[in-house]
Amino acid sequence: MTLTPMLRQYYELKKQYPGTLLFFRLGDFYELFFEDAITGARELEITLTARHKERGAPIPMCGVPHMAVATYIARLVRKGYRVALCEQMEDPAKAKKLVRREVVRVITPGTAIDPQLLETRESLYLAAVCASGASTGAAFLDLSTGEFRATQATGRDAWDQIRADIEAYQPRELLFPASLAPLFKGPARDDALPLPDDRRSSDAPHPPAEEAQPFGYPIALTPLDDWLWGAETCAAELCRQFGVRTLEGYGLDGKTEAVRAAGACLRYARETQRAQAAHVTDITYFEPYNHLVLDAVTVRNLDLVEAPGGNRNRSLLGVIDTTQTGMGARQLRSWLLRPSVQRGEIEARLDAVAELHADQARRDRLRAQLKEIADLERLTGRLSMGTATPRDLVSVRRSLDLVPGIRQVLSDAQSALLQVLTEAADDLPELRALIARAICDDPPASLADGGVIRQGFAPELDALRSTTQNAKQIIAALEARERSRSGIASLRIRYNGVFGYFIEVSKSSAARVPADYERKQTLANAERFTTPELKKYEAQVLGAEERIAELETAIFNDVRQQAMAETRRLLATARALAVLDALAALAETAVRRRYSRPLMHDADELEIAQGRHPVIEALDDAPFIPNDIYLNNSTDRLLIITGPNMGGKSTVLRQVALISILAQMGSFVPAERARLPVLDRIWTRVGASDDLARGRSTFMTEMIETAAILHNATPRSLVLLDEIGRGTATFDGLSIAWAVAEHLHDSPEHAAKTLFATHYHELTELAERLPGARNYQIAATERDGEVVFLYRLERGRASKSYGIEVARLAGLPPSVIERARDVLARLERYELDVFAETSAPTQPAAPTTERKSAAPGLDRASQRAARRALAAQATLFEAANQSLLDELRSLNVETLSAEEARALLLDVRQRIV
Ligand code: ATP
Repeated sequence: MTLTPMLRQYYELKKQYPGTLLFFRLGDFYELFFEDAITGARELEITLTARHKERGAPIPMCGVPHMAVATYIARLVRKGYRVALCEQMEDPAKAKKLVRREVVRVITPGTAIDPQLLETRESLYLAAVCASGASTGAAFLDLSTGEFRATQATGRDAWDQIRADIEAYQPRELLFPASLAPLFKGPARDDALPLPDDRRSSDAPHPPAEEAQPFGYPIALTPLDDWLWGAETCAAELCRQFGVRTLEGYGLDGKTEAVRAAGACLRYARETQRAQAAHVTDITYFEPYNHLVLDAVTVRNLDLVEAPGGNRNRSLLGVIDTTQTGMGARQLRSWLLRPSVQRGEIEARLDAVAELHADQARRDRLRAQLKEIADLERLTGRLSMGTATPRDLVSVRRSLDLVPGIRQVLSDAQSALLQVLTEAADDLPELRALIARAICDDPPASLADGGVIRQGFAPELDALRSTTQNAKQIIAALEARERSRSGIASLRIRYNGVFGYFIEVSKSSAARVPADYERKQTLANAERFTTPELKKYEAQVLGAEERIAELETAIFNDVRQQAMAETRRLLATARALAVLDALAALAETAVRRRYSRPLMHDADELEIAQGRHPVIEALDDAPFIPNDIYLNNSTDRLLIITGPNMGGKSTVLRQVALISILAQMGSFVPAERARLPVLDRIWTRVGASDDLARGRSTFMTEMIETAAILHNATPRSLVLLDEIGRGTATFDGLSIAWAVAEHLHDSPEHAAKTLFATHYHELTELAERLPGARNYQIAATERDGEVVFLYRLERGRASKSYGIEVARLAGLPPSVIERARDVLARLERYELDVFAETSAPTQPAAPTTERKSAAPGLDRASQRAARRALAAQATLFEAANQSLLDELRSLNVETLSAEEARALLLDVRQRIV
């Protein structure tokens, strides 16, 4: 097929940007062709058409109007696609041959910083990882704000540590060297993306939307050619960006992997955006595990930022977030996902919150001012990326105008953190004044609309404006004169973009126009003319307007440039305001929700008096029953919590974790009193949680997660185990739960504080045997045959689960409930029989696990556990019927009397399950 010049141009561009959907600008539309068109039409639900149908080889095609392109791109990027945006680089009307086109930007999930694509209250991270030898490095870049961080881990669990950070930052896109693809369990891809300047010819298929989800939440995986990760080039790239000669000052000395990751990350961001990204002014190095580690499963289990079904209001963040600005909200969210592990930092935040908590008038004034402040952090980002609009500059000015007022409110603050933040909030008076002088108060959305620069700022501009104004007035006066000269009452002077100014008269009056009129255009009902005089003033107006547009653009760019030169100060101010907003929000929440200041200490005790679950107490109508909890690393390190279904076991577990997280963020907590240690990690595992998305069986997932805890928990960790072991046969599950609890209790290096909620009442025997274990139960009582939940945590063990009662409340048919009660009674009887038989002192059984701390010999509990493990292949039902069958088989029917046979039948009917 011979290609048209335009298609040849298309192919050239497509070759340079493999793995992307190419949006090809054609007049007022962006068009997609071939495979891109098929994908685009499907994903965007737009009509697929064809080009060159008449030539016998139609080309699939679909298009979107240029005015609406941002929303279409947003939809594709959210689905994980990358979009290459190709523009016309010259005016088609003036182009002699084929219009020159270039890709001006590649928008990817991790670099999508247009306002339409960003969540105001969430950061958007692009991440990169790489590894060599025993070290793994990672970098995280939020291109919308310039926040840039890197880390590196070395040793056997280096990848686990980096993985924990990836889960804590939750980047939308992860870059990695193509050779590391197996690490992500995805198939090794042969479409490693070169950066745009790599002119490699590959027409790799898209989309990049990943099938594999190695991190427990959606993330676009982007392999980049290995040569892009060279240590030296990456270091040079960073030095150039920060204007320094060495990276030592950033703590990156000797951190080769962190440098490689950061360099590749920055380069990808700049190349895809085709921008300098001057707001990425520095990088912060951090050691792995420098925050309270909450993996993706825990973040989900605890509903920290989102409850099931994507409900944000029912999350912890939804309840505590009373911030007034997007940047404050992002700050709070990052504290929540990465709480501090440094007591000094925690106390500093608590001091600040306490001071704002105590002074309502000050807090109200501060929050009222913050409310008026725009997202300075992202505005600065847009300035640096060259996409700031005139309105953005006005927003910067208005926000800076408020800074002196905020400083005033905090002028006599006592807390060190408040003082530092007040100091850091800079109102940049020169920049404020410049924007105020140069830009109108209410400029149009786009520079091209004109009228952006304020009267009085540039004399030349003012002169030109008055010229056009005059000329326009003269033209208006001309109309009246021409009307009376020609005697044509319907004569009008009009203007349009194609023909400029013209005199229009109706067809019927055309014969009466004066002789000096020159015909310009003939329409169905009208004739259009011009005159030498009109031409003169038209030239004045149009010439001046062109020059005005040029001047406005030049002045605006100059002001923007001057604002960009203040990037560092702007960012410092934005970040100080973000932290202030987050602190004020925590204080406000503490007042509204009656939280109190936790006492952080270096010992191991965790003591909560009258603790509440922050989300349930805030959103449920029924009053919340507070509970006390005490844990330490010696006598009370494993709490086994039993109680009825729906009794509140999970709630108590989660409330301990949520209170600890809140405290380590720097927040007050929902409790009367709390004395807390600084935890290093919180693990939560919930039995039978479904994880179909990752294609693992429920039980398998549960065990993988449990294994991670057993390997990694430390005495400073908090472990919540909610009914683990429920996803398999009863005896298997019980045995595993038993062994897991023992392991956490016994192994000194993994002896984390553990809360274990379970319906395996047999586990309560553990607490009687292990010195560091305690039994707790959630109280419930029966009234008129019905269970009444008391939601009170008490010492001791529950005797029953009331599962059937809960099933009845849930509406199971009465006949089913009746039958369940009957079966339960039989099972309980059977269980008693079995125990009576198997726990005879003459039958010692082998231990299920080797135990160091157990008393010599085997007590009743161990014997039971051993027997249960041995019987684990069979379910309870099978076992019960099996023994009956065995008895029947061994029966000598020949010798039975009729009386005996009758009695036997009655007995069988009784015992059958
Ligand atoms: P199951 O064993 O069935 O999983 P559970 O014992 O873990 O149940 P939860 O899920 O913790 O029970 O609690 C069930 C419901 O009881 C909660 O959703 C909440 O509405 C209510 N609840 C729990 N604790 C309290 C409390 N302390 N005060 C008031 N209501 C509570």
